[in-house]
Amino acid sequence: MEHILEEAKSISAEIAEWRRHLHQTPELGLETPKTSAYIVQELKKMGVEDIRERVGGWGVAALVKGEKPGKTLAIRADCDALPIKEETGLPFASKNGLMHACGHDAHTAMALGAAKLLLAHKAELAGTVKFIFQPAEENVQGAKAMIDDGVMENPHVDALIGLHTGCLWKEVGNGEIGVRFGSLMAAVDRFVVTFKGKGGHGATPHLAVDPVTMTATAVLELQTILSRELSPLDAAVLTVGRIEGGKSFNIIPESCLIEGTVRTLNPSTRAFVEERLRAVVSRVADGMRGEAEVEYESGPPPLINDTDFTRTFQAFAARLAGAEKVKEIGEPTMGGEDVAYFLEMVPGTFFVHGSCAPEKGQVYPHHNPKFDVDEETFPLGSALFAGFALTWQQ
Ligand SMILES: [Zn+2]
Ligand SMILES: [Zn+2]
Repeated sequence: MEHILEEAKSISAEIAEWRRHLHQTPELGLETPKTSAYIVQELKKMGVEDIRERVGGWGVAALVKGEKPGKTLAIRADCDALPIKEETGLPFASKNGLMHACGHDAHTAMALGAAKLLLAHKAELAGTVKFIFQPAEENVQGAKAMIDDGVMENPHVDALIGLHTGCLWKEVGNGEIGVRFGSLMAAVDRFVVTFKGKGGHGATPHLAVDPVTMTATAVLELQTILSRELSPLDAAVLTVGRIEGGKSFNIIPESCLIEGTVRTLNPSTRAFVEERLRAVVSRVADGMRGEAEVEYESGPPPLINDTDFTRTFQAFAARLAGAEKVKEIGEPTMGGEDVAYFLEMVPGTFFVHGSCAPEKGQVYPHHNPKFDVDEETFPLGSALFAGFALTWQQ
């Protein structure tokens, strides 16, 4: 294990090549047939034999089995891209109108690098490492699809690690590692509320039941759930992003709807906000002689890193890269990540892999048409995955 970072550096050209290939052929959402075929091809080429294809669609699960007994660690890498037209001008830029503008190409390449490193260490590897190559992170459907198709069984996964690359947190610079204990990212829920009234003439509101007034009242009252009912120290967001209703200046419509998102950092707050949202909209509608119909869709849960497990990872990362390279992330984000579905099932940690070299022009945020990451940091990612797999049970 001591030399794993050097070993990773010795295959840096290969890791970059995988990334560049994936970067040139981005695919969207659950539909990643070419990406998956390439992953399988490269895994087979390096000697991985136990590969399960078409998991939950185009997901891939691959096993590297150690020669010593032990538990199963999953290493999760997402592999989908975004509907963004690339403007980086890189020689390997995508030309198909889609773009790896979130670094998932790098995640997959670093995981492939880890598989290659582990194959050379099977004699000292305890247990099994299950690589999970997951499509559809961006629309948060992929993890759930793979779980529903049994990716966490055969063999049963005991713990899971994953990373996100780029410079997502200012305290995690290029070539550094960010860890966080507890909540890192938020639950992502979506709601649609349809206020139903009775249509009529704009000049005779007393003969109608006005769903627009209900909507306007509800949009403001919903904010009081956060400001008056939750602890000010318990972070939550409720955003109404869409209002739709009515066609004419002098007609009271039959209905009016709002659509929005709720973000929370722990399961009890999440349940509380949903319950209160339902109550507030029905009270508002009821108070105005109307009705509210609620459609509430729960997305990924909050991403919560297991404290003990994260401590083990933090100590390992410090040993591998030097304690000064390992930063503790101060604040979570209200953005979401569907790796949270896995981490709801088993302990694990999702860490940040700092990758952006401003001197190379890598100053653009994620999901920007000029987004890019620093390939020189890729061996670190592969070494973190592989080295941790070799030591986490000790
Ligand atoms: Zn993204
Ligand atoms: Zn991403």
